[in-house]
Amino acid sequence: SLPVVAIVGRPNVGKSTLFNRIAGERIAIVEDKPGITRDRIYSRAEWNGRAFHLIDTGGLEFEEKDEVLEHIRHQAELAIEEADVILFAVDGRVGVTATDEEVARLLRRSGKPVVLAVNKLDHFKHQDQAYEFYQLGFEEVVAVSSLHGIGTGDLLDAVVSRF
Ligand code: GDP
Ligand code: MG
Repeated sequence: SLPVVAIVGRPNVGKSTLFNRIAGERIAIVEDKPGITRDRIYSRAEWNGRAFHLIDTGGLEFEEKDEVLEHIRHQAELAIEEADVILFAVDGRVGVTATDEEVARLLRRSGKPVVLAVNKLDHFKHQDQAYEFYQLGFEEVVAVSSLHGIGTGDLLDAVVSRF
């Protein structure tokens, strides 16, 4: 069976946009405001001749903050269970948040390979904003713009190298 790559991260960081970019199709729903009710979305994807299954763990996003955190935690745990490689997405414009740290802690504890996608770095001059995310404790940190397809090739190189 194919390796499984799961995209995890808090709402609105661009997980679904990244999913669609990698899958090459608009399968996941991209929302300006968090709150859309979607659960896990799967696609088959391929990079450099390596096929894999991709999961967007987006899903239910609640108004209530505690529920959001609970939900993200649950999705992260599911991803940890079934994924061979985890694509952890964060918002490079916002910087490191408490929720990012919480998800990072779960992922580090799992021992699964993690590639950190620092998203929304749409311009070359903003790439330096990826550095602060090294504090989350992952070796592979890649600046990307899922919207414009910048850096996603490097990101996928890092992902398939962990299969
Ligand atoms: P999700 O909740 O993590 O799945 O995030 P979405 O993929 O739904 O995206 C949330 C918002 O961020 C949408 O308005 C996207 O268009 C926007 N977005 C996603 N990726 C990028 C990016 O690389 N650059 C910019 N500027 N916006 C992005
Ligand atoms: Mg989403």
